[in-house]
Amino acid sequence: MSCEDIDMKGSSETMENHGGCSPKEGKGKRLWNKVRYQLVEYHSLPGYLRDNEYILGHYRSEWPLKQVLLSMFTIHNETLNVWTHLIGFFIFLALTIYTAMKVPKVVDLHSLQHIPDVLKKADLHKLHMELKTCLPSLPHMPDLHRFREELKTALPSMDLLQSLSSWHVMELLYNCLPERFSHGNQTDRSVKEDVANIIAPLMVRPITRWPFFAFMGGAMFCLLSSSICHLLSCHSERLSYIMLRLDYAGIAALISTSFYPPVYYSFMCNPFFCNLYMGFITILGIATILFSLLPVFQSPEFRTIRASLFFGMGMSGIAPILHKVILFWHQPEALHTTGYEILMGVLYGIGALVYATRIPERWMPGKFDIAGHSHQLFHVLVVAGAYTHYRAGLVYLNWRDMEGC
Ligand SMILES: [Zn+2]
Repeated sequence: MSCEDIDMKGSSETMENHGGCSPKEGKGKRLWNKVRYQLVEYHSLPGYLRDNEYILGHYRSEWPLKQVLLSMFTIHNETLNVWTHLIGFFIFLALTIYTAMKVPKVVDLHSLQHIPDVLKKADLHKLHMELKTCLPSLPHMPDLHRFREELKTALPSMDLLQSLSSWHVMELLYNCLPERFSHGNQTDRSVKEDVANIIAPLMVRPITRWPFFAFMGGAMFCLLSSSICHLLSCHSERLSYIMLRLDYAGIAALISTSFYPPVYYSFMCNPFFCNLYMGFITILGIATILFSLLPVFQSPEFRTIRASLFFGMGMSGIAPILHKVILFWHQPEALHTTGYEILMGVLYGIGALVYATRIPERWMPGKFDIAGHSHQLFHVLVVAGAYTHYRAGLVYLNWRDMEGC
């Protein structure tokens, strides 16, 4: 521990009396640090760190930043709170990269080089008929004869790459193409694969991805800010105040952006309702963040109000989802996504309930300090709920890529 650390922590216990900065550093200092950074009991915490009286011990209290950061790798009552959401953040980061990278794979340059060969080999008329019977749900099935010409003119400008589209179509096409295309003369890849590569981007007009990635961004922001909040809040009252606001802003951002994919992709052909729902949840999210800036918002007595506010925000999603089901009850994708949304609602709902009631530690205070207390369960349920929503988002993308408006 350095002298600067002590200066930063002016309000805490009087370290100076113990000679922590004297030239005789070494064994004595190490011994002092060992005692100094021991975990404390609930009753010896400063008022602002007293949040849950059912967690009796293993608290870090007003440690310097360096020790607080290092405590990430030690055991205390926030360790699992930090790690559950940090791991959740990395899961979402990986999913974002994975989803973003999947799309451009539909057409690669290697397959584009083979277009003339492939087109020569293929019996285009027959292929067209076979694909048409195999893929009756695809409304944009082009006339392949016409595309033979269009391809030739479009390729040099590489504009085709703009129309890269869903890997789902690619898969579907691949399964659909006649098996005889598998036995081409090429050694390293089949004609079938090349044909699928060429046709896939022509059949669909990919829809915008921003609502999907806005949700992924909201989830990552929420998980990371929560993790940082749990790690740093014990440092000082000022930092705790800032961190808690960041945490609430993260939750509001996650809930708001969770509306974007279902609302946008369900109502993209109906701008009035699309704008209405998107505007409503964005304003509600911003209002919640502003409201959470009030000092009273973080007091323990406000725990139930906080939980209810976030819960209510989530529940307002019922309106657009019901609306979607009424409009698209005949579409399997609409029902499929609704199933995911119900599961997500259940996971978040249980999470909010556990958060507000502080179960199970209220039944056995002190027994769940390190592992198993309500906040950790809440964290895991949030990650699970957000993952369910990611899966629903993939269904929406697939649906709209195929159907358009
Ligand atoms: Zn938390």
